[in-house]
Amino acid sequence: MARIRSRDTKPEMIVRRLLHGAGYRYRLHGRGLPGKPDLVFGGRRKVVLVHGCFWHQHGEERCLDGRKPKSNTGYWHEKLERNVQRDLRNQEELRALGWEVLVVWECEMRSTGELLSRLADFLGPARARR
Ligand SMILES: [Zn+2]
Repeated sequence: MARIRSRDTKPEMIVRRLLHGAGYRYRLHGRGLPGKPDLVFGGRRKVVLVHGCFWHQHGEERCLDGRKPKSNTGYWHEKLERNVQRDLRNQEELRALGWEVLVVWECEMRSTGELLSRLADFLGPARARR
């Protein structure tokens, strides 16, 4: 019997399925690249990062899931700030190496049509299949 695995609903899986269905091909978790970007489009020299809104702090002005916890604020502030700084550092290093970077957020999974057009704008047309 088919079993629904919870990991298949994770934002990264949604993005992977979306792009694959649209004809894009990519590598996963580019080893040797700063921060091991989630999806690597080597020929286009572009990477897509899929960020969870809480852990990567989407920011409360943009997204309700990006709010910081209201209790234990010192601990959380420090922990989440470290994540944010690491993200920025990785993205700077990727750009310095000549990669273009697109970040997509967990909350964008709610409208996959818009998400796909944003991804396609960034990536350019999918390679025609023969
Ligand atoms: Zn968000």
